[in-house]
Amino acid sequence: MIVLVVTVFFSVDEMYQNFYKSQIDVLEAETRLIAFGIDKNGVEFLDGLDETDYRITLIDKNGTVLFDNSGNDISVMDNHLDRKEVIEALETGFGSSTRQSSTLTERYIYTAALLKNGDVVRLSSTYFSVFHLVGMLFQPLLIVILIILAISLPYAFHLTRNIVEPLNRIDVDDPDGSDCYPEIRPILNKLSAQQSMINRDRETLLQKKQEFETITQNMNEGMILLNTEEVIIDINKAASDILKIDKDLVGGYLSESSVYERISDLIKDAAKGHRSSKRIRMEEKTYEIETSPVKVGNDVSGYVLLIFDESYKDASENMRKEFASNVSHELKTPLQSISGYAELLKNGLVREDDRMNCYEKIYGEAQRMIVLVNDVISLSHLDDENGAIVKENIDLSQICEDVVTYFRGEAPEDITICTDLKPGIVYGNRELLEGIVYNLCENGIRYNKKNGTLYVRTYQDDEHVYLQVEDTGIGIPKKYHERIFERFYRVDKARSKQVGGTGLGLSIVKHSCILSNASIDLKSEEGKGSVFTITFNKA
Ligand code: ADP
Repeated sequence: MIVLVVTVFFSVDEMYQNFYKSQIDVLEAETRLIAFGIDKNGVEFLDGLDETDYRITLIDKNGTVLFDNSGNDISVMDNHLDRKEVIEALETGFGSSTRQSSTLTERYIYTAALLKNGDVVRLSSTYFSVFHLVGMLFQPLLIVILIILAISLPYAFHLTRNIVEPLNRIDVDDPDGSDCYPEIRPILNKLSAQQSMINRDRETLLQKKQEFETITQNMNEGMILLNTEEVIIDINKAASDILKIDKDLVGGYLSESSVYERISDLIKDAAKGHRSSKRIRMEEKTYEIETSPVKVGNDVSGYVLLIFDESYKDASENMRKEFASNVSHELKTPLQSISGYAELLKNGLVREDDRMNCYEKIYGEAQRMIVLVNDVISLSHLDDENGAIVKENIDLSQICEDVVTYFRGEAPEDITICTDLKPGIVYGNRELLEGIVYNLCENGIRYNKKNGTLYVRTYQDDEHVYLQVEDTGIGIPKKYHERIFERFYRVDKARSKQVGGTGLGLSIVKHSCILSNASIDLKSEEGKGSVFTITFNKA
């Protein structure tokens, strides 16, 4: 429509110029003709021109109108000497001009020629102005525009629908499967390539997320991720168990949890960009809580809280203190005894007959001390050697053979030692294995009954090698099954002392089993006997 309007505008302009030019030409020719007629035939010539389309005016050289065929009264007419065409005609013999009429749609065109007698004859006609022409064209133009609209609107609608509908039908998740016109193919191909890239990235992200979750969820340490608004972004199982924060609180504010008050100062430090930590006690346990800011560039974008269970440190510290006091205590008794007998001997207060008895007592107590000190040394070696022990493939039955041979010479005569030793190779440290068999056999003999039996067995299946030490002794009440493996723990202290026990034998067994990747199983019934079964991995 714009093209149409512009075309019409330029055409009208061009046509109008031509039309105006030809009007002037015709009027000029007519004026010259009439001027020629007047020159030849005098003013009467004008009388013969009754029916003419032009207004003819005769003006003398002073500007006075002498004749006018418009029917107006010439006596009231203005002096015409100021008219452009009259001035030109008087000067050059011919003049022309145009003037706007009172209405917009019409214009006057004047041509004037100088007569031989000095007067001027002037012709004038009206012609349509541009506005008139535009007005004339307006209606047909409107009709054409309406026709254009009537044809192009439904067509444009149809075309738009044909373009847009297939676009709307494109399945962004599966661009290749979308049915579309060929022009859209390159975009679909690009979409498809982007889609597969997004899918790949999404899978990598998911995998990374799963890896992250597997790691964090299986961590013993608690972990909480917060954003700067202190909203929980992630929390692992350990943290929610320790701090009693429901997993549903993910996406909620940490301040809604009961522990918040105790750790808010740490979060404030993290918000300032500092790491900080503190210890809190919860349900008999000690936890170290550490907060660090998560920084992106220089800005803090969140905080991470790590929660470490420090209780075992306290426990091992307590154990160490307890062990030291136990050792001192255990050593003090024989030392006091030795010191007492030695003093009596030194001061000559012991009779000749009793002296041997005193020496034996001193020797006996010294022996007890040596056993105790050896056990303590063994345990401290086990503590120190954590992980740094030399291992080799060893036939467990052979070790049992050696230990049993030793005890056959040492054990009281009423105790029978039976063996059923099948070869079984384990990957372990010889001294540790000897310590396990020795201590179990020693206990089996110590806590046996009169005329009791000690069975030592080794056997294996596809995966494991087993050591079984069974006795027909006093047995261990169920409630002590755990505790007897503690250092210095004895069910019956007096009996243990009497038989030369230190309370460290089973601790050494337990520790050695841990270092040998072996497990201990105890079945025991009070008054009937005990069965210790150690399960080793096959070498
Ligand atoms: P001890 O040097 O006192 O024997 P252990 O650590 O070897 O120390 O054993 C701890 C305690 O476990 C013993 O004092 C004893 O009460 C009990 N015990 C160990 N082995 C046996 C067993 N075979 N039968 C009965 N009681 C046992």
